Amino acid sequence: MKYANIKKYDVSNGVGVRVSLFVSGCRHHCKGCFNAEAWDFNYGTEFTQETIDEIIESLKPDYINGLSLLWGEPLAPENQEQVWNLIQQVRQKLPQKTIRCYSGFTYEFIEEYMEKNLPYTTKIMDSLDVLVDGKWKEELKNLNLRFRGSANQRVIDVPSTRKYHTIIRALQKEKEKLVQLPLFSKSNLSSLEKVEQKIVEVLEVVA
Ligand code: SF4
Repeated sequence: MKYANIKKYDVSNGVGVRVSLFVSGCRHHCKGCFNAEAWDFNYGTEFTQETIDEIIESLKPDYINGLSLLWGEPLAPENQEQVWNLIQQVRQKLPQKTIRCYSGFTYEFIEEYMEKNLPYTTKIMDSLDVLVDGKWKEELKNLNLRFRGSANQRVIDVPSTRKYHTIIRALQKEKEKLVQLPLFSKSNLSSLEKVEQKIVEVLEVVA
């Protein structure tokens, strides 16, 4: 797998301050995609154990809520083995962090087709907190939507959806997790100061 970018203080792709990994390779080819260069599976930098170590180190501060996995397509068959490799190490070392994945595939397609035919899909889905599903649709684009680009995309609470076998939206649960984080402990005060303003902005949006 290759990746295009890692953002270590991202407040645009999920609740709270997050580490975001932008993987390469996407076949959805959504009309108006702002990231067409990353459709190529060979675009960007090789994803290695060193990359995973760097991401885990970046996730450690208390003020980081979790990991977001984004475009190209984290659930493309070619990317799933390394995505799972990353997820399982994050789950082992930092189980308190949330993991959110953006995918152009719908939840139903992932469950009905990918889980039955690909070796890593179920492991990945069993480890996600949130899936934002569906292609980006230019005609449904809405800048007021929270952490998704078009109205067809759903922010799904994956554990609850799998438990109750019906799509359950995630925002309320994420809001509770954010409020529970020890944001104001003395040990992270200096780091906190760097991102405090952004956290306040996010809390205002979520409230
Ligand atoms: S899923 Fe995302 S990266 Fe892929 S084409 Fe659509 S908007 Fe672009």
